[in-house]
Amino acid sequence: MTLDPREPVDVAIVGAGVIGAATAYYLAQAAPHLRIALLEQDHVGSGSTARSFAAYRKQFRSRIHVLASAVSQREFERFEEIAGHDVGLRQIGYLFLYRDPEALERAAGAVALQRECGVDDVVVLRGDDVRGRFPFVDSPVAGATWCPSDGYLDPLAVAAGYAEAARRLGVAIVQGTRVDAVEVAGGRVQGVRLGQDLVRAEQVVLATGAWMRALAPHVPIAPVKRYVYISPRIKERDVSGFPMTVLDLGPYVRSEARESLAWGFDERPTELAPGEIPRAAPLPPEPDYAIEPGYGRDHDEYGFEILLRLSEAIGFFLEEEIGIADASCGYYEVTPDHRVIIDRDPGIGGLVLAAGASGHGIMHAPAYGMLTADLLLDRPARLEGGREAFALGPLLAGEARPDPETMII
Ligand SMILES: Cc1cc2nc3c(=O)[nH]c(=O)nc-3n(C[C@H](O)[C@H](O)[C@H](O)COP(=O)(O)OP(=O)(O)OC[C@H]3O[C@@H](n4cnc5c(N)ncnc54)[C@H](O)[C@@H]3O)c2cc1C
Repeated sequence: MTLDPREPVDVAIVGAGVIGAATAYYLAQAAPHLRIALLEQDHVGSGSTARSFAAYRKQFRSRIHVLASAVSQREFERFEEIAGHDVGLRQIGYLFLYRDPEALERAAGAVALQRECGVDDVVVLRGDDVRGRFPFVDSPVAGATWCPSDGYLDPLAVAAGYAEAARRLGVAIVQGTRVDAVEVAGGRVQGVRLGQDLVRAEQVVLATGAWMRALAPHVPIAPVKRYVYISPRIKERDVSGFPMTVLDLGPYVRSEARESLAWGFDERPTELAPGEIPRAAPLPPEPDYAIEPGYGRDHDEYGFEILLRLSEAIGFFLEEEIGIADASCGYYEVTPDHRVIIDRDPGIGGLVLAAGASGHGIMHAPAYGMLTADLLLDRPARLEGGREAFALGPLLAGEARPDPETMII
C-alpha cells in the first residue's frame, strides 16, 4: 500500500526483516489504537533474514539469550495461531562437539543454566557416549551437549507471517520505499524522510539490521559478510535428520531440505572493539552479495576448508567426496559483544533502536519483537533482565553489558 505523508503515524518502523516485522505485530496486538507504519526499502525479509542459516537453539551461555530462545520457540510453535501458517520447524537437534575437556566443562556449566531456565531436554554427553549415539562422529571427542528440540525453520515464513498478521491488525506496510533520513528537531524525532516527503511520527524504530549506521552513524553495529555452502543431493547415505553439529564452537553443518547438507563458519575476526566500529565502512544501500575470490565452490576455496575442519570429527565428508552445489552470503549485523541493541536512543527523543542480533536474529525475533513493543509502550519488559542486557548506553561508553555471551558461532 502507499502511505499518505499527510497522515501522521504514532510509530514508524523502518526495516521489515524478522525483527521489524515481529515488532510491528506485537505492538499492534498490544495497542490496537496506534497508527503504525512498517517501511521497507526492498521487500519483507529481503535483508539478512533471507540469507541466514535458519538455525535456532536454546543452548547459550547467557541467561538472557536462553530465555529469549525459550520464549521465541514457544511463539514459533504456535505460529499458526499468529499468522495462519507454520514456520516449517524441523527439530533435528543441536549437537555441540568439544575436543578440549575444559571447553566441555564450561559447556556443561551452561547446560546447568539452560536447565534452570526450563530447557529440560538438553544434556551433556561424555566421551564414547557421543559416538555411541551419533555414529557419524568417528574421532575421539571429550564430549558434547545435545538438545533435541533445537533445529531450523523457514526465516521468510517468520518475517512474512508477522508482517501479514500485523497488516491484518491495521499496520500499513510499505515496500520498495527507502527511508533516506530520520528527521530530528529540538532533540526529538519528527518523522522519517522518504525522498521529498516527510512522514510524521511520534516514535521511530530503526530495525534496519546491518544497515543501521546509514541512518544512525553513532550506533555500534558493523556489517560482517558471512558465507554458507550447500552440497548436492547425497544419495549414498540418509542425511535427512543430520543434526546441527558444531565442532569446538567453530565450523557447523546440518541437514538441508532432507537430502543435502549445509555448512558454514567464519574465521574472520568478529570481535570488534567499540572504538573500531565507527571506522568500519557502512554497507552501501545495495548490499554486495557477490561471492568474493576464495569463497566459491572450488576445491581450494573456503567452503572445502570448512569441510576439512569438520572432517577432523566427521570422516565421511571426505570419504564420500561431498561437493558444493551452491555458495551464498549475507551480512551479520554485529555489535561489540554480539548481542542485540533494543533501547531508546539517549540523545534523540522518540528514537528506538532494535537491531544488531549478531547472528541470532531469526531464532530470537519473537522475543526481540515483544521487547521492542514493550519499550515503545513504556511497559515492563516481558523478558526479565532484557532492558539492561540489551541497552545501548554501555556500548557507547565502551563498557561491558551484564550477563555476557560466549557461545558465539
Ligand atoms: C550467513 C548468515 C547466517 C545466519 N544464520 C543464522 C541462524 O542460523 N540463526 C539465526 O537466528 N540467525 C542467523 N543469521 C542472522 C540473522 O539472519 C539476522 O540476525 C536477522 O535476519 C536480523 O534480522 P533484522 O530484522 O535485524 O535484519 P534484516 O533481516 O537485515 O532486516 C533489516 C531490513 O531493513 C531494511 N532497511 C535497511 N535500511 C533501510 C532504509 N533506509 N529504509 C527502509 N528499509 C531499510 C533492509 O532492506 C532489511 O530488509 C545469519 C545471518 C547470515 C548472514
